[in-house]
Amino acid sequence: MTASPSCCSKSGSSKDDPLEWFDGMIGHCLDYAREAHAQGVPIVGIMCEYTPRELILAAGGLPVCLCGGSAKTIPVAEQDLPANLCPLIKSTYGYHVMDSNPFLEMASLIVAETTCDGKKKMFELMGERRPMHILELPQKPDRAEGLAFWEQNLHELVTRLEDLFSVTVTDGALRDAIARMNHERWTRRALAALMSSDHPPLTGRQLINLKTIISGFPEAQAQLDAALAALTHRDGIQDSGSRVRVLMTGVPMVHGAEWVLDLVEERGGLVVATENCTGVKPLLEDVDDGAADPMRALAEKYYHVPCSVMMANEARLDMLRELVRTYRPQCVIELAWQACLTYSIEANRVKRLVEEEFGLPYLYIETDYSTSDAARVGVRVEALYESVMQQTRG
Ligand code: SF4
Ligand code: SF4
Repeated sequence: MTASPSCCSKSGSSKDDPLEWFDGMIGHCLDYAREAHAQGVPIVGIMCEYTPRELILAAGGLPVCLCGGSAKTIPVAEQDLPANLCPLIKSTYGYHVMDSNPFLEMASLIVAETTCDGKKKMFELMGERRPMHILELPQKPDRAEGLAFWEQNLHELVTRLEDLFSVTVTDGALRDAIARMNHERWTRRALAALMSSDHPPLTGRQLINLKTIISGFPEAQAQLDAALAALTHRDGIQDSGSRVRVLMTGVPMVHGAEWVLDLVEERGGLVVATENCTGVKPLLEDVDDGAADPMRALAEKYYHVPCSVMMANEARLDMLRELVRTYRPQCVIELAWQACLTYSIEANRVKRLVEEEFGLPYLYIETDYSTSDAARVGVRVEALYESVMQQTRG
């Protein structure tokens, strides 16, 4: 059996406290996936928020996010990939080379997309020895032809899943999966909305922990429900009113790669909203559960994910406007992983929006999974907070 990577060790967390349960989320997911796998349930790896998990659930599979958040797998990845590449891509690929991600080793299929160039070319290499299905994502979000093409891609994925797993994806199974995923999105949205309070009951770090790499995992959903019930009437955390309210935007901070968020909060900030794929970006729109054609409804929801690979990505700017109004941040911090061209270039538009439309201080941080520049980043974050204070003092 493949050894579990450090990210997959169990924490021995309590079932009674949902926040503790999510501290050990990877271990819980691993137990669940191993049991399901042993019973013949197919494990399907996913790499991106454009993948409709509903299709995998409706085909009887278990969708598991395989994005790597560990710096430890990067050196081996750099034997095949350029060093000057996004650490998320390198980390994910490193697990593949080392055969060290137990979820990946159990996967019968990996579903990936044509999003950024680095991912696409990495998928070619990974596909040399693993079964992959690539969804071709059109990148002009307002074109009707693009949506139709995307929907066709989703139908092709259904056919692949049906053939591979010898099942038929029925209308009823699709609608059931849509309801489950809408419930998961609704719960995580409601948890995120708690941060709009003047005195939020949890930190930004605690909030981003409240997610699972496996969707359709009943215990995880029960823990999300319990977290919402427990936190809804809880008092604000200590100093919640005096910390600098921060909106973070940019690249995903996958499990194990949250160090910048930690630093932002350790230096006196409170991350009240996170506009990225590990935050609210994939949660703000549901799939229309009453639609006559559920495949069309799925295509529409997922085609609307405002990733920087889209051109032009106006929907992300609209999402940021909505988040600034709702969460009332005092500044915005944009994170781009090293060599992420799409987010780093789009940062120009985000900076102008934040400074010119909202008059808020803005900080752009480009870094990687290593914390070697943490001291430098910390100084810049403190300088940002100083400008917030000056603005507050008028
Ligand atoms: S940022 Fe874009 S490419 Fe990355 S997971 Fe999100 S949608 Fe996919
Ligand atoms: S962070 Fe940027 S470069 Fe890395 S996978 Fe996402 S879109 Fe691609």
